[in-house]
Amino acid sequence: MNATSPSSASPQHGLTDRLTRWARGLSGKGEEEEQPAPERRARASTAANREITRRRKLYDDIGDFLFAHDLDLTPINFSVALDYLTGANIGIEKAVQAVMMERGQVSNGWVEAVVAEQRADDITPEALATMLDKVEESLKLFTGLMHESRSSAKDYGAALQEQAKDLAAGGDADAVLARLVNLTRSMVEKTRQVETQLRDNQKQTQALQSSLESARKAAEHDFLTGLPNRRAFEGALRDELALAREQGEPLAIAFCDIDHFKTINDTHGHDTGDRVLKFVAGLLTKISNDRCHVARHGGEEFVMLFRGKTALEACALVNKVREDLAGRSLVNRANGEKMEQVTFSGGVADMLEYENSRAALRAADRALYLAKEHGRNRVYLAAEAD
Ligand code: GH3
Ligand code: MG
Ligand code: MG
Repeated sequence: MNATSPSSASPQHGLTDRLTRWARGLSGKGEEEEQPAPERRARASTAANREITRRRKLYDDIGDFLFAHDLDLTPINFSVALDYLTGANIGIEKAVQAVMMERGQVSNGWVEAVVAEQRADDITPEALATMLDKVEESLKLFTGLMHESRSSAKDYGAALQEQAKDLAAGGDADAVLARLVNLTRSMVEKTRQVETQLRDNQKQTQALQSSLESARKAAEHDFLTGLPNRRAFEGALRDELALAREQGEPLAIAFCDIDHFKTINDTHGHDTGDRVLKFVAGLLTKISNDRCHVARHGGEEFVMLFRGKTALEACALVNKVREDLAGRSLVNRANGEKMEQVTFSGGVADMLEYENSRAALRAADRALYLAKEHGRNRVYLAAEAD
């Protein structure tokens, strides 16, 4: 499907910019195009026509792609279709190819997730943290300047007033006094202007700070379920391990993987699959708190960390969620049809009972594997011997 040669679209331009340039190209009004010399006009016009035809084909291909995958007409979907068909973004192209091979179809939820993943890769949390530190630094600087300017204006005004008083007492310096008063006024006015400028700068910095904060959150959250992603989970695991060791508390890990999720997708479509994922994420989130973290580990697999709980206790908690889910009759919102039972399997291990966290994760994963092997819809505790 990727038969079109690369277009002028380039990944470093914003989507709006790219779409505008592309649309301009379609109408043949590219402002960067040179006017052809009269003798070359005919040849140039053939080339321009070819270019228009090529762009029109790209336009049709994008439409076909969106239609074939039943994708909504959103900027994100346009952008992914454009990137895939032009090969302008190798990451998107590869991700689309992989999902087409695996499922033969792309869904709205998948597009959102893959774009969020790409963005998260563009801005690493480390880079964001550095940027945030810089903003905080400049914020402090501005605040300091503002105070400085305020107090220097006050000092200046007071000194001038003092002199004005003396001169007034002498009784013969009206002109000097008037000049001093004017000077005072202009100094106060100038300071006020600087202060306004500083306040504006401070506002801008604060706005930047909050947009960086949201970008940081986006980089650590799974777009589809709203849960922290694997990257965020790895950070939480490091913190919780340190806390558990420091406070002598137990720490348990659980992997939960939806059973036969591929069949759910195949039977009801990927959008319904996405909704099932969100639903399961919601049930797991219900038991999370500041000592229990839930994250989307990837695909249809979730990971949970329980500080202050033994593996046995964590196993019981996960099992309750499993029972809750297995006891529900879900309805496919797309057509109102009742869905078959949706279940998940789980594997739980004690993080501190193993040589290192890798070994503990492996043990939980093995327990999950055994739960699948022994019939699914069950939660297994890792045996230390494994
Ligand atoms: P098992 O019980 O052994 O876990 O079987 P399974 O079908 O759940 O596991 P398998 O690994 O064979 O398939 C997982 C499927 O999950 C394949 C993949 O297309 C689908 N999937 C992964 N991420 C998403 C997503 O974000 N949305 C949807 N709808 N499907 C997804
Ligand atoms: Mg599964
Ligand atoms: Mg899986």
